[in-house]
Amino acid sequence: MPPSLPALDRAHHLHPFTDFKALGEEGSRVITHAEGVYIHDAEGHRLLDGMAGLWCVNLGYGRRELVDAAAEQMLQLPYYNTFFKTTHPPAVGLAEKLCRLAPAHMNHVFFTGSGSEANDTVLRMVRRYWALRGKPWKQWVIGRENGYHGSTLAGMSLGGMALMHEQGGPGVPCITHVRQPYWFGEGRDQSPEAFGHACAAAIEERILALGEENVAAFIAEPVQGAGGAIMPPASYWPAVKAVLARYDILLVVDEVICGFGRLGEWFGSVLYDLAPDLMPIAKGLSSGYLPIGGVLVGDRVADTLIEEGGEFFHGFTYSGHPVCAAVALRNLEIMEEEGVVERVRDDLGPYLARRWSELADHPLVGEARSLGLMGALELVDPTTGGRFDRALAVGTLCRDISFACGLVMRSVGDTMIISPPLVITHEQIDELVSLAREALDETARRLS
Ligand code: PLP
Repeated sequence: MPPSLPALDRAHHLHPFTDFKALGEEGSRVITHAEGVYIHDAEGHRLLDGMAGLWCVNLGYGRRELVDAAAEQMLQLPYYNTFFKTTHPPAVGLAEKLCRLAPAHMNHVFFTGSGSEANDTVLRMVRRYWALRGKPWKQWVIGRENGYHGSTLAGMSLGGMALMHEQGGPGVPCITHVRQPYWFGEGRDQSPEAFGHACAAAIEERILALGEENVAAFIAEPVQGAGGAIMPPASYWPAVKAVLARYDILLVVDEVICGFGRLGEWFGSVLYDLAPDLMPIAKGLSSGYLPIGGVLVGDRVADTLIEEGGEFFHGFTYSGHPVCAAVALRNLEIMEEEGVVERVRDDLGPYLARRWSELADHPLVGEARSLGLMGALELVDPTTGGRFDRALAVGTLCRDISFACGLVMRSVGDTMIISPPLVITHEQIDELVSLAREALDETARRLS
């Protein structure tokens, strides 16, 4: 008998963000096909994909139009680069469309193959910008603890994931991290409003400690995704904007998860009125059908790079890849034609908020929050109301039970998170919420 897929996988495949040895012992789940909001595994189970893959399959699985766009482009021009002075229709079309959807002061885009490459590009642009402005000493970038900006060396360094920083020695120099606006986890001794102000004040304190003339940029996600679907208190972003306005510091808003409708606007920056200088994008740009990312560049930075920069020695073989660009363009067209973003804002987001918040009555749930189509449940010990002992790994237990119940829900510590495809229906939201409750009930039963 030929070896099974899990056996071959175990023998040869090193998975991202995976304990290689533990995977060898436990074996992997083989996903074979998918449609709409459902994925299927090799053992015949159907699961509601509450995470849209990795926060990316915004239009859901099995969209024929995207497959056709890829096939047509592959026949027409499967590859050509955008280096030097060449371009092709999909890259031009996508650049034009993105700049039309982005805030009005963003009129240029630099294409990459992923969100991590987008953040590498951000760092190179930030440094180049300040050098061209005659301030090469402006080198420090302030990020946030528990922020996620990718897995390349620059992405990891900009992010504030402690476990990533613990592996592999020093990252990129001149990057520092301030506290995150995570009220449930770190601020419950204050009102959310006061805590939001305190987190913004921490940025100002760090700017002053570094010397305001040395700080180049602040980078943050509008809502922290991988950190645990952390929606900042309402006071946070206005206060951060006020701090940054006092000093000459660029604002980088990482839209890799929040962009393209996740929060009910085309970009989280629009929801929070952020007017960023640079916006890294990826994931929902192509609904994850093909790898593509980019950096939308505001006029302030673009004008300097264009007018004063000369050649920018930076780029990727797959920057603006024609097939990826054609699929991304078609993806954005469909989102516009079907009014996907408006539906998340006016209908699906409010509906999820109502249904998801009902889970707050569960004894294991300390908080149930959502915004647009992103949600989180904070698991707490019902006997104390506080966090469980980390060693119990209750989040991981709940995640595994959730899978067994037929729902892909992810765990970040003891925070359960969801981010379903933006084409989910009311009935499927009902199903998601009832599967989540089933998973919570079974988790509580196993713990008792
Ligand atoms: N930025 C954010 C906010 C992300 O969530 C991610 C991935 O999850 C990235 C950047 C990195 O993107 P990629 O995995 O495409 O490199």
